[in-house]
Amino acid sequence: MVAYMDHKNLANETIDEARARKIADGVHRVLDGIAEAESKAGRKAGEVRLLAATKTRDVGEIMAAIDAGVRMIGENRPQEVDVKVAGLTARCAERGFALGTAADGDAGTGDAATPLPFHLIGQLQSNKINKVLPYVTTIESVDSLSLAQKISRRAEARGITVGVLLEVNESGEESKSGCAPDAAADLAAAVAALPGLRLEGLMTIGAHVHDEATIRGGFAHLRETRDALLASGDAALADCRELSMGMTHDMAIAIDEGSTIVRVGTAIFGERAFI
Ligand SMILES: *Cc1c(COP(=O)(O)O)cnc(C)c1O
Repeated sequence: MVAYMDHKNLANETIDEARARKIADGVHRVLDGIAEAESKAGRKAGEVRLLAATKTRDVGEIMAAIDAGVRMIGENRPQEVDVKVAGLTARCAERGFALGTAADGDAGTGDAATPLPFHLIGQLQSNKINKVLPYVTTIESVDSLSLAQKISRRAEARGITVGVLLEVNESGEESKSGCAPDAAADLAAAVAALPGLRLEGLMTIGAHVHDEATIRGGFAHLRETRDALLASGDAALADCRELSMGMTHDMAIAIDEGSTIVRVGTAIFGERAFI
């Protein structure tokens, strides 16, 4: 159990109106910011999708964000997924959303519910893979072949295909997970070749510095890596399109450098009281 989970009931579903309004304002501000950054970068409106980073937020807070327009969420810890998923799934279903369904997911079920993808964006220990596989559409934090192989085996055993992103540590900061940038291309090809996985793209966390050029350089390198993978002609890499990069403080730079998914927590929900 994670310590802060003793202090906050993450399964709570009821929040007051003022809190819901603050969250809605946050969502609208972020969506406006995305549209503005897309336009400034000369990109098509709607090219960049917002993922709400929901760690430490309870079900009520997350549903307020969904009610305000969030259509994709990401959790960091399997323990949090475990506590929230039943409530989230039920409340989403009431609103016509199928939580944990990929946007381009398997059609033909006759189900009219709107897909609401659920990503895992934090480090995943191999003993937690089975905990999250039934719920998440994409695991963004795959950074080694051994982890990818374990996810692959467990997905195959379940008869499912799980989306993955390769996490790259573009900044080289020791505190961050992710593979080395110069290992990313070979690793991506090896991951994409595994059964039970679909390599959907690359993910990075921006450099923790003030210098914009440094942050931008990391994002640009991730984009160049993705472009080279797509251009390789390897059929297994044909789906490797996503660039998950950009958070509260570097979202506009990331969008300017080609981000397709921005992962935003603080700008939607406010400062985190824990971690
Ligand atoms: C928390 C988190 C985010 C969101 O960060 P904010 O600065 O709160 O927007 C994005 N990505 C990952 C991997 C995170 O852990």
